[in-house]
Amino acid sequence: RDLVSPEAEVDERVIESALRPKNLDDFVGQERVREQLSLVLRSAMRRGRAPDHVLMSGGPGLGKTTLAMIIAAELGAPLRITSGPAIERSGDLAAVLSTLHEGEVLFLDEIHRMARPAEEMLYVAMEDFRVDVVVGKGPGATAIPLDIAPFTLVGATTRAGMLPAPLRDRFGFTAHMDFYRPEELERILNRSAGLLGVELTREAAEEVAGRSRGTPRIANRLLRRVRDYAEVRGDGRLGIDTARAALTLYEVDEEGLDRLDRAVLRALLKSFRGGPVGLSTLAVSVGEEPETVEVVAEPFLVRSGFIARTPRGRVATPEAWTHMGLVPPPDAVY
Ligand code: ADP
Repeated sequence: RDLVSPEAEVDERVIESALRPKNLDDFVGQERVREQLSLVLRSAMRRGRAPDHVLMSGGPGLGKTTLAMIIAAELGAPLRITSGPAIERSGDLAAVLSTLHEGEVLFLDEIHRMARPAEEMLYVAMEDFRVDVVVGKGPGATAIPLDIAPFTLVGATTRAGMLPAPLRDRFGFTAHMDFYRPEELERILNRSAGLLGVELTREAAEEVAGRSRGTPRIANRLLRRVRDYAEVRGDGRLGIDTARAALTLYEVDEEGLDRLDRAVLRALLKSFRGGPVGLSTLAVSVGEEPETVEVVAEPFLVRSGFIARTPRGRVATPEAWTHMGLVPPPDAVY
């Protein structure tokens, strides 16, 4: 479960920073988000004020961190990066907020995973640029208001629906990041190939893009695996045959499904006769956490038309039976 997981591996972060576009013009795709963001940034700069807080929603690997960096760069402002899980107590957040400089961009990844008490502190900070630091304990505790520098919060979440409404409402603008179209992924791949100094043919780019699940991070990762293969087993050039051979070796199929996806589909088809079945039951039957199946495998399987969500549970589509080379039983739901 690595190659087509949209989550970044630890050492991948270093490579990613080299492949990250540095400004809005180099950022491929997401036209609407780019246009909206460009307006927000320009009008803020014109007024000489920090722009409204921005919420970015979308799956892992779609470019949320990259956009946060671009926002800071376009504003010429410093960027501070933290994440929801790192904020366990409101004190953790107070420490970050109280040391921000004027105009600084604060990127808060996985904002939905922040501790509850910190959330309330964040509301006030976003709205009034103030934190209330609580001194003492019990009945004698007092809140001391502390002014903080006006800053711009860029929050990122895999699902905006998971955010409490009061937090969501405090963002001036929500950018919904979509999966990328194949031709956009090809552009990203060509750009990355250039940066990596490898020769990628048009057919190979098309092949890799088609298996990248609409996700730039996966496209870049598959590109690196194809490059490894080309360097060790081929002549270093990334052509269509090399791309196919490498991706077959890494068990990424023509639709971009990997082992977990196929395991989920197989369980749905074979153990549950195509469904309907609840997601957590399905997850248990493939030995995964429900969250992994829900966040990583399912969205893509739904988007590719292999699984449908129904009120009674997940159901396999005819395409799923065909893709897995199985024949649906006569009483299959679809
Ligand atoms: P997220 O924060 O949403 O998980 P990242 O911003 O870390 O995703 O992006 C993952 C990788 O994909 C980065 O290396 C970046 O170079 C690449 N990437 C993402 N979006 C784009 C894009 N629109 N154009 C070019 N590269 C992109």
